[in-house]
Amino acid sequence: MTDATVAALRRDFPILQRRVNDCPLVYLDSAASAQMAEPVMAAIDDYRRHHHANVHRGAHTLSAEATERYEASRARVARFLGAPDPRGVVFTRNATEALNLIAHAYGRSRLQAGDEVLVSVAEHHANLVPWHLLAQDRGVVIKGVGLSADGRVDLDALEAAIGPRTKVVATFHVSNVLGYEQPLRRIADAAHAVGALFVVDGAQAAPHVAVDVVASGVDAYAFSGHKVGGPTGIGALWMRPDVLETLPPFLGGGEMIRRVEVDRSTYADIPMRFEAGTPAIAEAIGLAAALDYLEAIGLENIWAHDRALATQALAGLDALTGVETYGPRGDDRGGIVPFNVVGVHPHDVASFLDAEGIAVRAGHHCAQPLMKALGVASTARASFWLYTTRDEVDAFVAAVARVRDFFAGDAVSVATDAPRPGEALA
Ligand code: PLP
Repeated sequence: MTDATVAALRRDFPILQRRVNDCPLVYLDSAASAQMAEPVMAAIDDYRRHHHANVHRGAHTLSAEATERYEASRARVARFLGAPDPRGVVFTRNATEALNLIAHAYGRSRLQAGDEVLVSVAEHHANLVPWHLLAQDRGVVIKGVGLSADGRVDLDALEAAIGPRTKVVATFHVSNVLGYEQPLRRIADAAHAVGALFVVDGAQAAPHVAVDVVASGVDAYAFSGHKVGGPTGIGALWMRPDVLETLPPFLGGGEMIRRVEVDRSTYADIPMRFEAGTPAIAEAIGLAAALDYLEAIGLENIWAHDRALATQALAGLDALTGVETYGPRGDDRGGIVPFNVVGVHPHDVASFLDAEGIAVRAGHHCAQPLMKALGVASTARASFWLYTTRDEVDAFVAAVARVRDFFAGDAVSVATDAPRPGEALA
């Protein structure tokens, strides 16, 4: 995207006009939560002002309008993912809940003691802990694939680790730390060769790359609204409808039933079977508006922009002695740049940058096994999106140089530094 295009897009994001600590805000934390554009806020506002009611239950006009908008949002999510059948889309609170849903509903109904779930060391905790809960409950074995010399998940090792006991292969589409996109089709083929379910954590991919669940051979795909420029409190799970319709519910209550007696119940068809209780209606509508916004720009344009900014940032940081960056280099690398200023705790780096109005994340990024594999306790992380400018990246690199100079001589190794209180929230 040209500088002029980005400047025009920025006008859709009022928060970017803010000043923080008397400096213009430079928001480099979109991988944690992206900012929301005016059209998304307007869609939520319109629903709240003119159409708000509960869905699927009322015979009155407002309820019908709310239901129509909510179900249209489901169809929008399906189109965004390249899924032909909206019945495969379940609204959840976020990607975490979507992954828990699969581990619970699929894991507990299909897997037995000794069956294996294959993950990588680079997963977000949201794609590890639900499987750990399953392992504790059912004696399922979790196996983790490490990194290869090039810093990517070792796909040769992954293929070699897949065997007759492998029932699920669960991995990320784009890494929230290493920043690169995995070749889904290759992993899908390996998983399907033994009849395993291929589960993809798409939380960091959905805002940046075009997703086609059918062409890439995915069986289940999870993402969050707040990372694609939608609101918090909404996410989605897409699962192959022919698999989803064979699964038992995850949560029980209203909306997900067919018939209830005092001592037993039967369940609704998909997707309602997995949406117990009143859903996040305004948020689903906001999510659909966010997907409209992204597709109007073009995911391929966003990804190219991310890649260009990541290349610029990595070149700038790598030119600084005393600054380390992580993750592979290449065309598959998007706008996520983890780094450390040697001898300075990442929380101090982030605080210093915040004093200049620059928002970055610091901590283990909910990826403790990956931190271990990288030999660090934590990192700082800058992440870019469609509204990030080249000037902001330059300002960020210059500020990191000032951090290094400010702390020079005040050495505490980040590699051996214990996590600080509060780091678990990263
Ligand atoms: N997966 C990845 C790769 C993520 O980066 C995140 C959040 O940072 C999640 C899953 C969890 O997303 P949420 O907290 O919205 O459920």
